[in-house]
Amino acid sequence: MSQRKRQPNNPKPKEWLADDLSLQYIADYKPFNFVDGEGIRCSIYVSGCNFHCPGCYNVASQNFHYGQPYSKDLEDQIIEDMKADYVQGLTLLGGEPFLNTQVCLQLCKRVRKEFGNNKDIWSWSGYRWEELMKESYDKLKLLSMIDILVDGRFMEDKKDLTLQFRGSSNQRIINVPKSLEQDKVVIWDKLVH
Ligand code: SF4
Repeated sequence: MSQRKRQPNNPKPKEWLADDLSLQYIADYKPFNFVDGEGIRCSIYVSGCNFHCPGCYNVASQNFHYGQPYSKDLEDQIIEDMKADYVQGLTLLGGEPFLNTQVCLQLCKRVRKEFGNNKDIWSWSGYRWEELMKESYDKLKLLSMIDILVDGRFMEDKKDLTLQFRGSSNQRIINVPKSLEQDKVVIWDKLVH
């Protein structure tokens, strides 16, 4: 008998809430990297993700208690690092940024306050765009502060290491402001592959 391959978890709308799950822990912070989106970026990896995709690139950070608590010192360090002219923006990764909205909203608000729209914000999420549209207020608020969303679970059977900024072909690089404005998914206009 063939065994069905395990798939990532599929939450119902609003089933998973940051208020219930997040411990506001950070798995890692990587300043000045050039793999987490366009240009040179400062990347924060939040802790905790319930999608549990088989083949996840960062299994340790699925644990909401992994790493260190988010702190004002770290936030100040990120802002300081982002002041460099060559830094294009901030990237939120995980874990799941949309299950850590307390931290991500606070940081995004600070980035907008300090830099306006002179720096951009990218985020990865296991949620698909269509799922986020049915989600809790905090997730929609976070989405509204982001420029580019890379959406969807990592699917092992769709794995393709040649894709720009994505691990599997179901994932999309989405222009968030245009998608919200047009009420449909608008793909990043710099997508090559
Ligand atoms: S959504 Fe991302 S962080 Fe979460 S389990 Fe899947 S690959 Fe890992």
